[in-house]
Amino acid sequence: MDHGWGFQTKAIHGGTNPDNNKSVTAPIYQTSTFRFTTVEEGARLGQDIGPGYYYTRWGNPTTRLFEEKMALLEGAEDALATSSGMAAISTAVLSFIQKGDHVVAPRAIYQATYELFQEVLPDFGVEVTFLNVPTVEEYERALRKNTRLLYIETPNNPLLQITDIAAVCALARAHGALTIADNTFATPYNQNPLSLGVDVVVHSATKYIGGHSDVTAGVILGNRERIQQIKHRFRIYGGVLDPFASWLLIRGVKTLGLRMERHNANAQRLAEFLASHPAVERVYYPGLPSHPGHDVARRQMRGFGGMLSFEVKGGFEAGVRCVEALRVCTLAVSLGGVETLVTHPASTSSVGIPREERIRAGITDGLIRVSVGIEDIEDLLRDFDQALERLSV
Ligand code: PLP
Repeated sequence: MDHGWGFQTKAIHGGTNPDNNKSVTAPIYQTSTFRFTTVEEGARLGQDIGPGYYYTRWGNPTTRLFEEKMALLEGAEDALATSSGMAAISTAVLSFIQKGDHVVAPRAIYQATYELFQEVLPDFGVEVTFLNVPTVEEYERALRKNTRLLYIETPNNPLLQITDIAAVCALARAHGALTIADNTFATPYNQNPLSLGVDVVVHSATKYIGGHSDVTAGVILGNRERIQQIKHRFRIYGGVLDPFASWLLIRGVKTLGLRMERHNANAQRLAEFLASHPAVERVYYPGLPSHPGHDVARRQMRGFGGMLSFEVKGGFEAGVRCVEALRVCTLAVSLGGVETLVTHPASTSSVGIPREERIRAGITDGLIRVSVGIEDIEDLLRDFDQALERLSV
């Protein structure tokens, strides 16, 4: 129940603690299965007729508490936790499309999601159109009679491009198509796509939701009917979340609001600092008025998030030297943890993509992606300053 609470109160008190012994924190139901008193009870639970639990792939009390909190924070009727963000995305997508359907998705989306659309779906007779720029005009141009799904990721990776969620959803509704939005970068603290008309929201909970780089998880959110439909497929695909991981997520999500406030503030300060630094060519952050998506972001986001990218002058070598010179920031993939993580995609995550294709996707030689953590901002600014100083030596 919503109770009209604010974000942090929902994150801390939302959902039902399944413990009968009045523990303040929820217990971990580290069990794969549940006992029935009668065969009738087993038959009832197996068909999802509650109350009670049947088998952890069907549901688990610890995981349920995490799902209830997430549903409250995203303003969803229901939620389904999964074992990774990719389990959430593949389960959601594969629950709604079938042979003969057409899907529209931006080209610049999370790499494994791109591979799901580019490699896997065509094998099952689904056509996909990729957009070079994720504007509503491009989505509209790509529509076909058989378009079933418009996929959205905003802000996206790595240039933090912004898509107008409400406009794409209006287009999808008029066309009788479904929308799925990946809200990982923004988090429910900064953006609620369901309130803007999206049908299904997916998250990599590995990132900001968990928040401590110690758990791999995902979550799918939507209305009761859609989540029920997804649950049926999910039990076949099997990407179930472990109860201990659910418990870590319950603990992590309780501080999501506080962490996001700091991520937002730190990223804004770092973006402004980098934008004025002589060794930096360009900064991509939706909180900067110079960002092409700034106005739409202001309309649909409450904060601009903790992710930014920037290009150093001097290309590939300068990019490598800069990330290797950082001392407070950690050179690692992933994002959304309390610690600042940096990547130089041209030398690491995108090393397998031919250079021309990579540059066409905006991943230039000197591009550096930063997941801005919640350290003291002065320490982060000093760290970037000393690393950038070395480029001019
Ligand atoms: N979506 C986005 C935007 C991501 O950045 C990631 C991972 O980096 C994923 C989905 C996949 O999540 P996971 O690694 O939890 O499967």
